Amino acid sequence: MFESITEGLKNTVNKIRYRDDEKALKKACDELKKSLLKSDVFHKVTKEIVSAVESGTREIGIGRDNFLRVVKKELTSILTVKGNQGFVFASKPPTVVLMTGLQGSGKTTTTGKLANFLKTQKKKKVMIIAADLQRLAAVEQLRQIAQKIEVELVADENATPTQIVTRGLKRAENELYDVVLIDTAGRLAIDEALMDELLKLRDIANPDEIFYVADAMSGQDAVRTALSFNEKIGISGVILSKFDGDSKGGVALGVSHQVGVPLRFIGVGEKPEDIEQFIPERIVNRLMGAGDIESLAEKTSAVIDEKQAKKMTQKIKKGKFNFNDFLDQMDQMKKLGSMKSLLGMIPGMGAMAKQIGDMDLDNSEEIRSIKAMINSMTKKEREDPDLLSNSRKRRLALGAGLDQMQVNRALKQFKSAAKLAKQLSGKGGRGMQDMMKQMQGGGGFPMGRR
Ligand code: GDP
Repeated sequence: MFESITEGLKNTVNKIRYRDDEKALKKACDELKKSLLKSDVFHKVTKEIVSAVESGTREIGIGRDNFLRVVKKELTSILTVKGNQGFVFASKPPTVVLMTGLQGSGKTTTTGKLANFLKTQKKKKVMIIAADLQRLAAVEQLRQIAQKIEVELVADENATPTQIVTRGLKRAENELYDVVLIDTAGRLAIDEALMDELLKLRDIANPDEIFYVADAMSGQDAVRTALSFNEKIGISGVILSKFDGDSKGGVALGVSHQVGVPLRFIGVGEKPEDIEQFIPERIVNRLMGAGDIESLAEKTSAVIDEKQAKKMTQKIKKGKFNFNDFLDQMDQMKKLGSMKSLLGMIPGMGAMAKQIGDMDLDNSEEIRSIKAMINSMTKKEREDPDLLSNSRKRRLALGAGLDQMQVNRALKQFKSAAKLAKQLSGKGGRGMQDMMKQMQGGGGFPMGRR
């Protein structure tokens, strides 16, 4: 997602030594400019960043550390505009959010993702109101999403948007909901009728936040439409969807500054868990190659139940990890979101994320064979991998539609994974924690010293 910018910054930093002269600073600044433009950062924003970095570094003395410090400071400042960061709850619940955006921008999907984020990571009672009654398919789409993430949906195809919002808000108050997300109508382009409807809903709902969802792939168009929405109805946050696509990341760097409203979340895929908070300091750490352990920890702690994790560690340590545990673990991993987005948060792994691409837990061949094999096992076999004799293996192969070699390979992989887990859980179960700690301390540039 931010690999292009991160890589560009790394190249930039390599142009300057620990102590250096004016010529090196110029070279580094040229490289910085080139790499920001290449990542689609708006030219005026690029110019502002580069000139601030140049004068800032000169002021404190030209050298790699100073240059890095100034780059970090300027990136943070360009990303930070007045307003809320992440999700902010109203002092008196429910927190009401109006979700706006053009048709196809990803507004409905994002409403579901945000609801899921609030439910799973913030443990809140969430309601969605379907006020996009322009397109009946939108209500059905929302119904399916709400069902999947198990969040309450208030919808009525026969009501007007105003009626449904009034009804929903009343219920939310009576039934003590923490957050209400209102999915409003989308149009192909900004028109009077849309703005009138949004203004009406805004007056009725009196929302704490108005989020504008824009498609990151539309580049500067996302910024232009956000500016229009802000001018006409006043938005308090931008969400960039489809950040997992071809987007080079530059829009995210400029949009807050250009619109004057903070970027709050980014959408990184089509599934409910594919959303990330956009918090300037954390993002800058990621851009500088230092990862984002805080966000990673938040994500994992929301999904992984600590008690269960402890039980699992005990099992692993005793070598009792079985096939049921394996399936449970796979399900938990899936809830964390895509492998690529997780890797981007680990210090030094950003570049690897790019190379690995997206490993799909459902679709890799190995995982598919292991799952097919487990599905053909008896209850006893799932609990005790050692039961699997040759005749049982033959039966499994037949049942799973695999050949005997594939079953043997899958079993071997399962066993070596269990062994590795046992090793990692060593040192009193602190193996993984130690690893994380080491990463926290040692992340970031400069990587290659000259
Ligand atoms: P709406 O018309 O604005 O409500 O748009 P939808 O929510 O229906 O989204 C339009 C399409 O974009 C759907 O196919 C979504 O699955 C897809 N989409 C939405 N957000 C993302 C995202 O963050 N990444 C990707 N890859 N696709 C997305």
